[in-house]
Amino acid sequence: MSGKRDYYKVLGVSRDATESEIKRAFRTLARRHHPDKNPDDTDAETKFKEVQEAYAVLSNPDQRRKYDTFGHEQPGGSPFGPGGFQGVNITIDDLFGGGIESIFSQIFSGGGVRRKRRGTDLLVNHEVSFQVVFDGSDESIEIDVLKSCEDCEGTGSPSPEGARECPTCDGRGRIQRIEKAGFFTKQVVSECTTCRGEGRIVSDPCGTCSGEGRSRRTREVTFTVPPGISSGTRLRMRGHGEAARGARGENGDLYIQIEVIEHPWFERDGADLLMALPLGFVELALGTQVILPHPDGSDLRIKVPAGSNPGDTINLPGRGISGGRRGKGSVTVLLKLDMPKKVSRSLKKSLDSLREEIGTDFDSLEDSIRDEAKRRRRG
Ligand SMILES: [Zn+2]
Ligand SMILES: [Zn+2]
Repeated sequence: MSGKRDYYKVLGVSRDATESEIKRAFRTLARRHHPDKNPDDTDAETKFKEVQEAYAVLSNPDQRRKYDTFGHEQPGGSPFGPGGFQGVNITIDDLFGGGIESIFSQIFSGGGVRRKRRGTDLLVNHEVSFQVVFDGSDESIEIDVLKSCEDCEGTGSPSPEGARECPTCDGRGRIQRIEKAGFFTKQVVSECTTCRGEGRIVSDPCGTCSGEGRSRRTREVTFTVPPGISSGTRLRMRGHGEAARGARGENGDLYIQIEVIEHPWFERDGADLLMALPLGFVELALGTQVILPHPDGSDLRIKVPAGSNPGDTINLPGRGISGGRRGKGSVTVLLKLDMPKKVSRSLKKSLDSLREEIGTDFDSLEDSIRDEAKRRRRG
């Protein structure tokens, strides 16, 4: 019945040829018969397609085994589907580069492999307080999720005959068509119109879920947020997403994206915490101690040494966030000069009298500028 030539003969290789021998033979022949090299030559076009078909089968271990057993007359018909082999779009460049495997690897994937469908993954956002970064926390949320219907066990019908697989799409919900585009062909996937993409036809729908097989339920999900967590981290709850359609396949996953509410003054840099401390001139000049509440449970004591400058930093190791690779981080305090917004008459008087002692000495200003630059460049 089949007037097809033997695939091994088409490629000119022996029946025990290795994968790389088959690939080499294919490349040579495909290059020779490529339509770009043989414009308007229908004989070359046919040969090119024949070579592609032989390679598609012999380069796929499963298909090659079947072909070795059954030849062209496989039970169940052509492995390429009812339309037979349609040719694939490969360029001359593909034949030189390494891209041909990925082109051919998709050919047989349309035939029932994707039957096992997963439910949809869900993503929810969840805010936690900054304290959670230190302590971790057990959290719980309520989500509305499509669960498998208990009354029909997800089939969509109370009777076994009341819901059956759609015969048009074999339950896949999608139809693959081969379309010609010029010389080449491409695969087009569209929703099955018989079952409207459901993959099933329900003639006796379940009263609880109206034949959908799934119903929306409110569910409480509890989970643990580990200490050290940062904003944007997604926690994955396996199987807590939507149920799959049609009583088969596994549930999707639930992803919980954590947003950490900002601390009133700390910025986070990995395991370290940064803050700015605005102090008056007198405090910077004479030194002081500042005590602040800290999320690790004991107050933060910041000792500002006398003679501090705005821009100086004070490092407090071990008071940052734990859980990083470098162990516990530190708190870094950046000193800022808090200038009075308004200078009253009496303050101006006191400042004027201070000018004699600590005001800028304009005679040695250039030296100060030079010294400052030196310090800055060294630091
Ligand atoms: Zn269908
Ligand atoms: Zn139901």
